[in-house]
Amino acid sequence: MAQRVPVSDGGSKKTSRVRVAVRLRPYMAKPDEKDEGPCVRGIDSQNLEIINWRNATETVKYHFDVFHGEKTTQQEVFLSSVKPILPHVLNGQNASVFAYGPTGAGKTHTMLGSSEQPGVIPRAVCEVFKLVQSKDEEDGWAYSIGMSYLEIYNEKVLDLLSPNSQDLPIREDKEKNILIPGLTHTTILSFADFDKHFIPATLNRTTASTKLNQRSSRSHAILLVKVVRTQRAHPQRQQIGKLYLVDLAGSEDNRRTGNQGIRLKESGAINLSLFTLSKVVDSLNSGTSGRVPYRDSKLTRLLQDSLGGSAHSVMITNIAPEYKYYFDTFSALNFAAKSKLIVNKPFTREIVTIPNVQVKRTRDDHEAGSSGSE
Ligand code: ADP
Ligand code: MG
Repeated sequence: MAQRVPVSDGGSKKTSRVRVAVRLRPYMAKPDEKDEGPCVRGIDSQNLEIINWRNATETVKYHFDVFHGEKTTQQEVFLSSVKPILPHVLNGQNASVFAYGPTGAGKTHTMLGSSEQPGVIPRAVCEVFKLVQSKDEEDGWAYSIGMSYLEIYNEKVLDLLSPNSQDLPIREDKEKNILIPGLTHTTILSFADFDKHFIPATLNRTTASTKLNQRSSRSHAILLVKVVRTQRAHPQRQQIGKLYLVDLAGSEDNRRTGNQGIRLKESGAINLSLFTLSKVVDSLNSGTSGRVPYRDSKLTRLLQDSLGGSAHSVMITNIAPEYKYYFDTFSALNFAAKSKLIVNKPFTREIVTIPNVQVKRTRDDHEAGSSGSE
């Protein structure tokens, strides 16, 4: 019987910081609203400023890895913030991209986009196929690509590839991989194949309207693209790289959106996950050995290997320039400024299949959740 032996990459001690990008969407004046102009503006490709509400003659300045101004195209966002991390997924490492920010600020535009202006998700999936196709036989590995697609709604984990799915459990295996038993995982052979599964599933997403936005997304949508590569020769080493593409629910303060009843209950649950996300960020940044509260919400449990863990991560914080978003923009920028300090330690997880040999070899050179500062 073949034995699967987990090994790591021999101790890559390289660390990779979570890259934090901020994207400002164009100003959208409504005819029935008085035109106050923008309250936030870009300074250069890394800096921006927002009016100081305590003193409107002053601004508060922020510095990020990248600032994408309102004229930035979908292609530019993809090329600078996302494309560089994708090759790691073919080498058994994890990568994640997530969009954070208030409803109406451009998260879905950034991640999904439209057919005329495709966003990060279609571009990233296309690129992963391209990268795999560019590997020739001499590479010595066989690749297979699969996808899962889920949402976290009211702290329930729902399978978007299986309509009417029940709340699914999140588990961790011995190697600290996060898994969801029962979640549909579909092998995809081409980008067209991906679309065939992804488009109807996206329509499945639970959306409801709030006062702030007609089609506010009230759930966290998480697309997982898994690349499994298996060495053609024996021993058949196998590496699994996971790419998470996450469109988070709105980060707005729901006391101002007029949510009531069932909407308020939803808001509470959404806030629990985002509140916990911010606590996780605080805890990782403090650099102390204290417990990181990943388990306190479904979102952070799932993102455990994407934030402070082993992943190459990019956070795109979407903000809007209008005054009505002012306080939500301010809190989103402060959240983003904290996340900048998290350090991920990329490493490769690998399984070796050795026929008829009883070998147990586990090298644990990686501490999940380890962190440091810039
Ligand atoms: P969110 O998902 O954060 O609620 P959306 O992505 O739905 O926000 O964006 C709100 C509106 O603004 C949509 O009509 C979207 O098309 C538009 N929008 C967002 N970002 C941009 C952008 N960079 N350029 C042009 N339009 C944008
Ligand atoms: Mg949205």
